Amino acid sequence: MKTEAAVLWGVDEPLEVAEVELAAPGAGEVRVRIEASGVCHSDWNAVTGASATPLPAVLGHEGSGVVEAIGAAVTSVSPGDTVVLSWLPACGTCRACQQGRPSSCEHATRQMAAGSLPDGGFRLSHNGTRLHHYSFLSTFARHAIVDERSCIRVPAGTDTDVAALVGCAVTTGIGAVINRAKISPGCSVAVFGAGGVGLSAIMGARLAGAETIVAVEPVGSRRALALELGATLALDGKDPAVAQGLLDYSHGGVDYAFVAAGPVSLVELAFAVTRPGGMIVAIGVPPDGSVVTLPGPQLVRSEKIITGTFYGSARPAIDMPMILRLHAQGRLPLEKLVGRRYRLGEVNEAFADMRSGSSARSVLRPWGEGTGTGG
Ligand SMILES: [Zn+2]
Ligand SMILES: [Zn+2]
Repeated sequence: MKTEAAVLWGVDEPLEVAEVELAAPGAGEVRVRIEASGVCHSDWNAVTGASATPLPAVLGHEGSGVVEAIGAAVTSVSPGDTVVLSWLPACGTCRACQQGRPSSCEHATRQMAAGSLPDGGFRLSHNGTRLHHYSFLSTFARHAIVDERSCIRVPAGTDTDVAALVGCAVTTGIGAVINRAKISPGCSVAVFGAGGVGLSAIMGARLAGAETIVAVEPVGSRRALALELGATLALDGKDPAVAQGLLDYSHGGVDYAFVAAGPVSLVELAFAVTRPGGMIVAIGVPPDGSVVTLPGPQLVRSEKIITGTFYGSARPAIDMPMILRLHAQGRLPLEKLVGRRYRLGEVNEAFADMRSGSSARSVLRPWGEGTGTGG
């Protein structure tokens, strides 16, 4: 069938919305009508080449939609189901999966680099030219063929904008706090970067009982939103005195620092403002080839724990419905993350607004309703 998709033909080029050919879902695959797709910094890293991905490709990996058709042997979803899309359809059988760490699935991480679906197949093309999938989803489109294991069924009537963000930013930010760091009630937290991921980490830290939460963010409107969502202090990331401000406020360093942005200098700053024995969790993916430099003696003497977290170390089938239930109970105000909505043809504008920080989280609505002011 034909559908509309935003294609990235080459690095540093604007995305082009084009009519593309979508093959029928193969065995274990599902065709999803995409209702909403968040615009994530990882997509931008693919545009700039900071994170290499096979091109041409249809980007987008933060989506929600409704199942339209299923391939052979699909058992977990049916046409009409509302789904959050997981960009890490774990195999379930590799060592990492067996250890309960599906976000490190060896099969999925290898296949993701190939730009295919998990079984190695491709379902997108344009006038006979193969288009690569991106993170197994390619949600900057009206339809997508995805692996059944990417489909996390959620209740009918779930807000599809919120559900889309749960597909990446929200699960990544909250998961960093509750799955990776497993913070304790009463602890002190710093969050560097208050975009969709950082704001989610802030909400997760409040949910988990942190006593103080400091947001460090250069954009004023995002600092205001951070305070609204649970931060107890918001510091301007451009201020050279930010490290001292953090040390003063936390009486010598925070227990946990979450780095929800890519620059490695932020990991180094997070290390400096974390108290001895504390934990630094890197969430944002730095550019390919970048290196973090840490002071050697302090690394030993301070016994700080430095770790990363990929996709919030989540088990999507468990964590995503749980997060949406907490949202429904009013304990996670995720709807505040939804910023301006865009039509598919406005995807390049959505990227520009994401980069300037003028919108909390830019959301594409590929079936039309765009150019709103958001909620
Ligand atoms: Zn993402
Ligand atoms: Zn696996």
